[in-house]
Amino acid sequence: MSDLSRTTAPKIIAIANQKGGVGKTTTSINLAAGLAELGCRVLLVDLDPQGNASTGIGIEPDQREVTTYDILAGEANLYDAVQETGISNLMAIPANTDLSSADIELISNEKRSFLLYDALRQPSVDAFALDYIIIDCPPSLNLLTINAMVAADSVIVPLQSEFYALEGLSQLMLTIREVRQTANPDLRIEGVVLTMFDRRNNLSTQVEQDARENLKDLVFKTMIPRNVRLSEAPSYAMSIMEYDPNSRGANAYRELAAELIQRQA
Ligand code: ADP
Ligand code: MG
Repeated sequence: MSDLSRTTAPKIIAIANQKGGVGKTTTSINLAAGLAELGCRVLLVDLDPQGNASTGIGIEPDQREVTTYDILAGEANLYDAVQETGISNLMAIPANTDLSSADIELISNEKRSFLLYDALRQPSVDAFALDYIIIDCPPSLNLLTINAMVAADSVIVPLQSEFYALEGLSQLMLTIREVRQTANPDLRIEGVVLTMFDRRNNLSTQVEQDARENLKDLVFKTMIPRNVRLSEAPSYAMSIMEYDPNSRGANAYRELAAELIQRQA
């Protein structure tokens, strides 16, 4: 064990929105990297069969020997699934397409909604002395996303600053309410983060206004700007903190990490 003085359990946050392309994976990687930069010990869990978070953090397909699928299926211990990344303080559990069959395969399992919950609470997790576990969810409200919400303390919802942004939100809120009523009464909405924000675009500012009016303090003060460096970083298998630490994107995710920590204080 690296630090016996740590006794508190890690805070588990699911990054969820059933819409694809809204910035879930970008937020998972770079918020995790931002928290790690601030000295927190972070585990990034890739829960999307597309494995974009794994690729983006630099875990190549042939390095994904033990994956989230294996821990959900009970075929591996979490301890064996955790990999170091190129960033100090940041670890990851990768995913691959095996996970795409999990939704159907695990449906007959009585504990199907609690598989990730159980995995993340294995005693061996303590050995990593984690402060945060960030879960990158797939673009669907399927069994995988339910597993994330059951396992999590809270949910962060990335909202793309574009027309219809708020539309899918009621479905997502309903699902969160359902999870609260059944499996995880303490699940909170940590916050909604506006992504791909473009100050010069009226639509972006309109979405911001609508979101702040409707969701009030749930909306993070920090907004993630549309920044080409953020979209380039994953193809170099780097977080924005490594790829371009002085970019607007890096600064925004740093700020989001600080705001998140402050909310907990
Ligand atoms: P999701 O995981 O919700 O499907 P991604 O994080 O993969 O969404 O983002 C979708 C696409 O938009 C990706 O190509 C990503 O690089 C790009 N992208 C995400 N956030 C930003 C941003 N703030 N600025 C520019 N491009 C972004
Ligand atoms: Mg994604």
